[in-house]
Amino acid sequence: DLIHERVLGAAAQRGSLPALVDAVSGRTITYGELATLVERLAAGLAAEGIGVGDVVALHSPNTVVFPVVFYATTRAGGTVTTLSPLATPQEIAKQLVDAKAKILVTVSALLGPARAAADLVRQETGAVIEVLVCDEAEGHRSVLGLLRDGQVPPYDIDPAVGVAVLPYSSGTTGVPKGVMLTHRNICTNLEQISGLHRIEEGDRIIAILPFFHIYGMAVLLNNALLRGATVYVHPRFDLDTFLTSLERDRITHAYLAPPVMLVLAKHPTVGQLDLSHLKRIICAAAPLDAGLQAAVADRLGVEIGQAYGMTELSPGTHIHVDGNTDEPPACVGHLFPSTKARLVDPLTGADAAPGEPGELWIRGPQVMKGYFGRPEDTDAMVDADGWLHTGDVARVDADGNWFIVDRVKELIKYKGYQVAPAELEAVLLGHPDIADAAVIGVYDEENNEIPKAFVVPMPGATLSGEAVMQYVSGLVAPYKKVRRVEFIEAIPKAASGKILRRQLRQRERTPA
Ligand code: ATP
Ligand code: MG
Repeated sequence: DLIHERVLGAAAQRGSLPALVDAVSGRTITYGELATLVERLAAGLAAEGIGVGDVVALHSPNTVVFPVVFYATTRAGGTVTTLSPLATPQEIAKQLVDAKAKILVTVSALLGPARAAADLVRQETGAVIEVLVCDEAEGHRSVLGLLRDGQVPPYDIDPAVGVAVLPYSSGTTGVPKGVMLTHRNICTNLEQISGLHRIEEGDRIIAILPFFHIYGMAVLLNNALLRGATVYVHPRFDLDTFLTSLERDRITHAYLAPPVMLVLAKHPTVGQLDLSHLKRIICAAAPLDAGLQAAVADRLGVEIGQAYGMTELSPGTHIHVDGNTDEPPACVGHLFPSTKARLVDPLTGADAAPGEPGELWIRGPQVMKGYFGRPEDTDAMVDADGWLHTGDVARVDADGNWFIVDRVKELIKYKGYQVAPAELEAVLLGHPDIADAAVIGVYDEENNEIPKAFVVPMPGATLSGEAVMQYVSGLVAPYKKVRRVEFIEAIPKAASGKILRRQLRQRERTPA
């Protein structure tokens, strides 16, 4: 199957069932309308010259029209590359050139940066990229004007080869790379998810995760529409709107990242909500501390589990098993069906002893086709036997519960010991006067790598660096002590919820 066939295969029969609801304006697209709009826009895109091998860039916040453009592109035979609505003209231009995009679809509110990016591309490469909006903008071409009843010309795509989407990795550890995911990658991963995590027709799903990132795109959007759920679309994250929607829209499933979990644990009004419809919260994309997870579960009285994945894995390999309330704290769930995992010493390539941590290697149908235009990077990531080296350290217990320790590259090497920043961050967040925290390795006068904490105090709290260090010392082994503290206004985070340690390191190098 191709992705739009799989996801929207039952859409026409679902008719008047709401597929997408704008949680702010109430604008609704039913499954029947979605099926028709996708078909008509695909015909329009085909008439614009989009076909097999052509890339359409989608640069938009979450809207109810986002999926229409997304599936219409693949329906026309093309490939979708997605961009953060916060991207600068330079960042957009870089991705347009890298992905060889032909058309840039944006929203009227982002026309400024989108046009500036298209200008940069023309100056740099001579390529002319057509900029379209997917809402209405006075005097500007909209994809709505492309809708037509004509046929999409026939084409032939091998699902195992044809690239359906070209998302970019988050750029947490280096430059964002275009990840080629085939129709089969995405479709099989959707099947694998359903082996452990079930969504049914009539479920109501809140969408504050950005659709441009693989987690929101696949685990949330594709999976919800495949199963006949209704997606409540939030164009941006606004706390009050989010909380109102959770209650008013009788949300059954929320897919979140750790920063929102932090809000749910610490924000004063959250306890007053009636969330009796909420069946499950899944948290992924970055480490979630066990204490935080328990605090939110207690406060909301709801089942919370994690999932693990990466853009290169379409994106999933592990998820909380529905109804499994015996899961140990901080567990990312069980391994997906038809997926193989190894834990390996990254230096020697030897398998870790049972129960011991190692670098997580994955083999399965969800492993990406490769990085677009970067064969060396692909070879460094996926070895000749097809194992993808995730760069994450993991362990598994005897019951098949998996845990992510941290990224291999983030581990701080303190005098021959290894310290995981995620563990220290979890400890810091347990302090009642700490609103948020991040830890990186820095170098002391003797050139030892030591853990340094960046700490955001709770409003009104008085907190000294000394007190923070003492607090941590009381809770961890001596070699894991936080040895430096800096107070900061906010922890820099990506739209996908990850701590941008790169920015903290940069700040470290730039003297105040
Ligand atoms: P780049 O590869 O460009 O540096 P990135 O790795 O952050 O960026 P993504 O593909 O969005 O880009 O993120 C995948 C990573 O997110 C994983 O490798 C892992 O480190 C982290 N991650 C995902 N889920 C979890 C989780 N449940 N717990 C801990 N870490 C997680
Ligand atoms: Mg990565």
